[in-house]
Amino acid sequence: MKFKFSSEDKEWHQTLLNAFENILKMKIKPVLVYDQKHFSNYVYKSQARPNSVWAECIKKCGTIWLSPHLSTEPKVETLNTLCHECLHIKYPKLTEKEITKLANKVIPVSTSMTAKKKSFDIIHNQ
Ligand SMILES: [Zn+2]
Repeated sequence: MKFKFSSEDKEWHQTLLNAFENILKMKIKPVLVYDQKHFSNYVYKSQARPNSVWAECIKKCGTIWLSPHLSTEPKVETLNTLCHECLHIKYPKLTEKEITKLANKVIPVSTSMTAKKKSFDIIHNQ
């Protein structure tokens, strides 16, 4: 399969997630999932299709899904996405624009990423 994270990828994802959890002093522990079945109860009202975004997140329980499409992108993009999703969980009231600005300040990425997908992510409140 072209788009698939290796076990090594998953290992450093978890390492980074632990680091963000500690740095941001997150009260809700972020949990990484690679299967979108965790979101099967949600109705997608927005224009974004679940498979056309880089990540999906449930803020209240800290569940983060990473798109396997990230596996073929530069690693910095995964780092930026993980940081972005953790910020959504840590600061649930901030807007998408504010979160993007914050994440890009910590981990700068080229704008090519945003151009590749219509929406960066899908965020659920609970
Ligand atoms: Zn976002």
